[in-house]
Amino acid sequence: MVEKVPHAGGILKNYVAGEFVVGDKTFANINPVDGSEINKVSEATADLVNAAVESARAALEGPWGKMTLDQRRALLHKVADGIDARFDDFVAAEMADTGKSYVQASTIDIPRGSANFRIFADMVTGQSAECFQTPTPDGRGALNYAVNKPLGVVAVIAPWNLPLLLMTWKLAPALAAGNTVIAKPSEETPATATLLAEVMHEAGIPAGVYNLVHGFGPDSAGEFLTTHKGVDAVTFTGESSTGSAIMKAAADGVKALSFELGGKNAGIIFEDCDFEEAVNGTARSVFTNGGQVCLCTERLYVQRSIFDKFVNALKDKAENLKVGWPLDEDTDMGPVISHKHRDKVVAYYESAKEDGATVITGGDVPVFGDARDHGAFVEPTILTGLSEEARIVKEEVFGPVCHIAPFDTEEEAVALANNSDYGLAATVWTTNLQRAHRVAQQMEVGIAWVNTWYLRDLRTPFGGVKLSGVGREGGVHSLNFYSEPTNICIKL
Ligand code: NAD
Repeated sequence: MVEKVPHAGGILKNYVAGEFVVGDKTFANINPVDGSEINKVSEATADLVNAAVESARAALEGPWGKMTLDQRRALLHKVADGIDARFDDFVAAEMADTGKSYVQASTIDIPRGSANFRIFADMVTGQSAECFQTPTPDGRGALNYAVNKPLGVVAVIAPWNLPLLLMTWKLAPALAAGNTVIAKPSEETPATATLLAEVMHEAGIPAGVYNLVHGFGPDSAGEFLTTHKGVDAVTFTGESSTGSAIMKAAADGVKALSFELGGKNAGIIFEDCDFEEAVNGTARSVFTNGGQVCLCTERLYVQRSIFDKFVNALKDKAENLKVGWPLDEDTDMGPVISHKHRDKVVAYYESAKEDGATVITGGDVPVFGDARDHGAFVEPTILTGLSEEARIVKEEVFGPVCHIAPFDTEEEAVALANNSDYGLAATVWTTNLQRAHRVAQQMEVGIAWVNTWYLRDLRTPFGGVKLSGVGREGGVHSLNFYSEPTNICIKL
């Protein structure tokens, strides 16, 4: 159970060339539950980022590059074991940074952090490469085979919503494939990447293989990395507009890019669904982690015959959510990540009201009468009655909110769901087998769920279309991104 937040009242350091480094500048790491300062964070300077890139290059050409696959695999397993050994520290740090509930942090975020290292460490040992026998006019033929090499020095830039989970989802395959990395966690959630540096250090990961730089995006560690000549690839999860800025910044260096970006995910609920499952599943898909999962549903389309019944049932679910202290066992939802983000979510609630929405429930900031009133809480919110052109129906809010609209025909539902600049995920609720396949396959997204949500097999392709991303992660897709196949052609 959570007792003490590691480094509370102290300073979170950068980790460069195997050493923990503090620079001149710091910024505050704030707990969104009550607005208190957890600790300070040392902001990396451009010089420190340069040193990180240099040490990553040296490790790539030195100890890490020279290791056998089995040696690397064993070390990455040690990292996974190290995370598990400090499980309570990781949970406490993640909860303090994000305000997410103990249940969420201890059953999803931290276990997936160590699992990512085990999965990719093992998977890379089975990575295959192509081989072709090529006929030649002289009859002797040629043999073509590919050899997988690492991409090189990889910058890993992560968001705040699932800090350790999403950071390790990129770090683990990058390291397993033989790359060296420079991790930049979100300025909102710097703690678990710092604990990971301690685990890496303890596990004996050679200096320079995992570097950690803290800071912001523009004119800070984020930009220093994406414009750095010595960085070969950038793997990024975050907002679509940030992805666009990074793409521009990385263009001069023609860096390899992998982007997991924003979403405005639709859920379609047909009248032939299992009603209870659809309501329960939709409540999860809208409100999990305060709506701060990129896969969360913010647009719901419900067949007209069950529209009122569904809206009322989801309202009941929303009103029964316990919003409160992350440590309370029955807490379903904590605060959103920051006061800035709370203000953004509330501004969307206000824009919906101005656009004429019917507020079915929520729409405001809750009042507790205690320290949480200094935190970044918002109410779970359900809206109806808006046009498809309303801002809150078009733009990603990234909060505990959905708009529900009725539809009459399957074709209409498909068209409504696909009418978005984003294309990350969709959820379809129906018991009609043919419709399930037909509709799921028409969704313009990277992942379409039927009668479930957030059920992930880590071997499957994961990513988005349109504004939601570039490339795929998961299983061999991750390994393919982090590997550079070189073709060898031998005249026989
Ligand atoms: P963000 O884009 O604001 O920040 C993400 C990271 O990028 C942070 O580390 C930030 O410091 C850094 N950054 C910001 N500007 C930068 C710049 N110009 N150059 C380099 N780095 C820069 O995103 P966020 O608010 O942390 O995360 C929420 C967003 O992430 C939402 O849009 C959500 O949908 C998306 N997300 C997507 C996925 C996915 O798998 N598709 C998963 C989780 C979150």
